[in-house]
Amino acid sequence: MQHCSKCNIDIRGNKSCCPLCQGNLIGEPEDPAFPVLPERRLSRGMFLRICVFIFIVVELAMMLVNYFTDSRFYLPGMVILWAPFVLLDICLAVYFRSNILKLVTIETCLFLLVVLYLDGRDGRLSWSIAWVIPITILCLVLLTNILAWITRRRLVDYVVYLALDTVLALLQTLSVFYDRNPYPAMSLITGVVMLIYAAYVGLFRYRELKNALSKYMNV
Ligand SMILES: [Zn+2]
Repeated sequence: MQHCSKCNIDIRGNKSCCPLCQGNLIGEPEDPAFPVLPERRLSRGMFLRICVFIFIVVELAMMLVNYFTDSRFYLPGMVILWAPFVLLDICLAVYFRSNILKLVTIETCLFLLVVLYLDGRDGRLSWSIAWVIPITILCLVLLTNILAWITRRRLVDYVVYLALDTVLALLQTLSVFYDRNPYPAMSLITGVVMLIYAAYVGLFRYRELKNALSKYMNV
């Protein structure tokens, strides 16, 4: 153990000088009192730069393949189309890695936007509003609850995501009311399930909901 004769204190670990008076220490240093974390091998910035580099190489290579094959193959075009989303996805995952609920919610919203874009390319929406969007929203609600349960969150920590899910679920039913949905069943089921779930939260988890509201809105 090291010792500062000026402050008359013993110091554990291995210090170069006294932490109080910065003076010289006498005695033998010992192993550090706290565990030393191993240095992170790959920094976040480096990881992202590698991803962007791979992305650029893949995009350029696929363009080259398309050029030499007169775009005869299906795969290169698909890779060119989806690679930006994969890159965006990786960036989001790195940025929100500490908050999995936020990550899942944002990724799902992006997925819905992509689905809407792909379905709407010929000028009207069909399979996306009939099936993919309502089912995805139901899965998102289920996943949010499962993740909240696994990570032992209180309602106050994830109610904002549930509120967003409810808004999405109600918005997608507009396609039925505006008569744009070829198969309205799934869309209506999703809307009703979310209303029932919202009623359950409002009636049986009222106290937690009130705490959440006061936290987010100072009500
Ligand atoms: Zn000292």
